[in-house]
Amino acid sequence: MPPLLVLGTRNRKKRQEIVEILSGLGLEFGDLTEFPQAQEVEEDGDTFEANARKKAAETAKAIGQWVLGEDSGLVVPGLNGRPGVYSARYAGKQGDDEANNNRLLAELKPLPDDRRAAYYVCTAALADPTGEVKAVVEGRCHGTIIAERRGTGGFGYDPLFLIPEFHQTFGELSARVKHALSHRARALERLRPALRQLLCAQVS
Ligand code: IMP
Repeated sequence: MPPLLVLGTRNRKKRQEIVEILSGLGLEFGDLTEFPQAQEVEEDGDTFEANARKKAAETAKAIGQWVLGEDSGLVVPGLNGRPGVYSARYAGKQGDDEANNNRLLAELKPLPDDRRAAYYVCTAALADPTGEVKAVVEGRCHGTIIAERRGTGGFGYDPLFLIPEFHQTFGELSARVKHALSHRARALERLRPALRQLLCAQVS
């Protein structure tokens, strides 16, 4: 049987992205919809790393499986790093992408174009079935926040996040291109050696 890696998320789009990025390792993937006993982990850390570690460790311990916990968000240096770790609930309600994008646009409106640089961050932590964190990785992806939404792909801030080299937003670029460039892809590529060594080696 292939080794099971449970993704610490109930977000279908995130699951799909992670599974595509980690394809080819011979892993079987699960997510928290299959483990109703796993409580929602409160993301109360001050950093992406603290939240990723907490998600991975608490969930792994609760379900007794290898768990990948990840925390991600958008950092705008011109806004002193906001929305940062609060990206998912920037406008108040958790996961309200429409309202979050509106707030971001409103805050950036008074700023000159050269202050609209931004980057996505993803930190991922791998915990063993006892809840011990075995590996932590980070990836970043740099872009610019444009003034109007473009494209319907991706999720979250993607319709506003322009990759200057491609002249397109993550909402416009194909999933294949996003998964080659994204913060999540860059973080998870760095996790491949640990996954191979810790999970895949157990069955070969
Ligand atoms: P998390 O589920 O706590 O990691 O929250 C991540 C939040 O950051 C999401 O709700 C989005 O607002 C934003 N975010 C993270 N990664 C992406 C991405 O790849 N595209 C768009 N928004 C993202």
